[in-house]
Amino acid sequence: MRFILLGAPGAGKGTQAQRLVDAHDIVQLSTGEMLRAAVAAGTDIGKRAKAVMEAGDLVSDDILIGMISDRVTEADCGNGFILDGFPRTLAQAEALEVMLAQKSLKLDAVIEMKVDDALLIGRITGRYTCANCGAGYHDENLKPKVAGICDNCGRTEFSHRSDDNAEAVTTRLAAYHEQTAPLLPFYRDKGSLKTVDGMADIDEVTRQLNDVLALG
Ligand code: AMP
Repeated sequence: MRFILLGAPGAGKGTQAQRLVDAHDIVQLSTGEMLRAAVAAGTDIGKRAKAVMEAGDLVSDDILIGMISDRVTEADCGNGFILDGFPRTLAQAEALEVMLAQKSLKLDAVIEMKVDDALLIGRITGRYTCANCGAGYHDENLKPKVAGICDNCGRTEFSHRSDDNAEAVTTRLAAYHEQTAPLLPFYRDKGSLKTVDGMADIDEVTRQLNDVLALG
């Protein structure tokens, strides 16, 4: 199974992708995570991406297309993958079409997670992760069961993404509306776009996603 999760920053793509990975035995390809790893490792790509990401702008299409093209042929993608955060521009979407055709791979669906802007800023600025295992939490919507202790691994250090501040979030939302939202009519015209209500609670969104995926 191969599909794209489309949605604004804070729409819940990463959270839902983690759940779908477990349920369908596929991998999550998050370009944001890949770039953050490149920044942390200090690779050439990381050095080029760091300031752009901190400002909330989009990293160049060339870097992203090269990154995904290499990644989808790795062995762990054999059973399928979720594209989380890619494509984000029409150029990336068009390159993805060519790349998949060359590898004789087909997408099963493109799923939009629809959330009103008013909700997104609060979702993003309140979120944080366990510094050890990466489990995601939120100051109001998703607190650890015991305050200050990760439910998943029991550790007590947490971190906030450096681009989850109000200024970068405003730029990221503008980038979404200007550069990523045009992908909705692009995929709708191809007949592959499905939409779920990203404002429902987390379990309900997972249920809607599974329904959409079962229908193919
Ligand atoms: P995310 O974790 O998906 O919110 O991505 C974090 C940041 O990484 C974005 O704000 C961009 O700067 C960069 N990024 C991730 N995916 C892409 C992409 N497909 N195209 C361009 N920039 C990206």
